[in-house]
Amino acid sequence: MTVQDFTSTAQRLAEEGIARVGSAATAAELEALRTALLGRKSGRLTELMKQLPSLSPDARRDAGAAINQAKSALEQALEARKAALAGSGADRAAQDLTMPARRTWQGAKHPVTVVIEEITEIFKELGFTVATGPEAELEWYNFGALNFPPDHPAMDLHDTLYLSGGGLLRTHTSPVQVRTLQKYPPPVRILAPGNCYRRDVFDASHAPMFSQIEGLAIDERTSFVDLKATLTHFAQRFFGATRTRFRPSYFPFTEPSAEMDVSCVLCKGAGCPACKGSGWMEILGSGMVHPAVLESSGVDSERYTGWAFGMGPARVAMLRHGIPDIRLLYDSDIRFLEQFVR
Ligand SMILES: [Zn+2]
Repeated sequence: MTVQDFTSTAQRLAEEGIARVGSAATAAELEALRTALLGRKSGRLTELMKQLPSLSPDARRDAGAAINQAKSALEQALEARKAALAGSGADRAAQDLTMPARRTWQGAKHPVTVVIEEITEIFKELGFTVATGPEAELEWYNFGALNFPPDHPAMDLHDTLYLSGGGLLRTHTSPVQVRTLQKYPPPVRILAPGNCYRRDVFDASHAPMFSQIEGLAIDERTSFVDLKATLTHFAQRFFGATRTRFRPSYFPFTEPSAEMDVSCVLCKGAGCPACKGSGWMEILGSGMVHPAVLESSGVDSERYTGWAFGMGPARVAMLRHGIPDIRLLYDSDIRFLEQFVR
């Protein structure tokens, strides 16, 4: 090839290339043209450049200049067309607007956390503050101070996870009552949410780790009337329940003790599978704090009385959403949890 051949080929490639660039409709088309003409491996101008060593040094300089001119003309044309396409939006027309959008991930609070927060909000309005305590607890705080008789079945190895070197994982949030009363003189109104542990089989209604939320009110002359009025107010606020009922029960740390039921939120008391046809849902245990518990905590049981209640937020979340199996709440399965994003 002569210098003339090089020059005319470069000019022809530039002219043809510029024409094709001018009619390119998309950015992808432009990129394909750039590769075909200027690509480092097999672009047509690049190929031409590779043949330059066959010329004499002088001729090589002239031919090289012609190729470079063609190259910069093409580059200018590519840039100009790119800018024009971006401005006109013609490129967008080539996109498939019916293609489904990529889903964005949205974080949300766990349904049990939501329940705890809502309960806390209601009781905060009634003057309760949140108190916390250790999850690894001393046996005395977990049982002894709470009036559990020494042979109480809950203290058996099958229910309690004992730690090597003494202590245990608390089986309920009630130790927080004792720890709070040791620190602060009455009147006291606290809410204690937290995790508890029991040696339970992980089945549809039991989990070895679960959350509990407990309330305690200690004052002079506070009575069962205050307990009933406060918990009824709570049930109406939280469940929208029109009716509540208290059934006698037994706990070592309260006397008298009562389970509280609310009219089923799903069937409004008519009876449905969720409430096993009874029209009632059991939501919490409560009672007047046993004088022995007050005395263990250093509170004068002649001067002060108190009442307490405890409930399982997981159970409340299950009732609210009709969740049949507690394990679903702890499996961390995104497909299940993302239903609660709101
Ligand atoms: Zn029902």
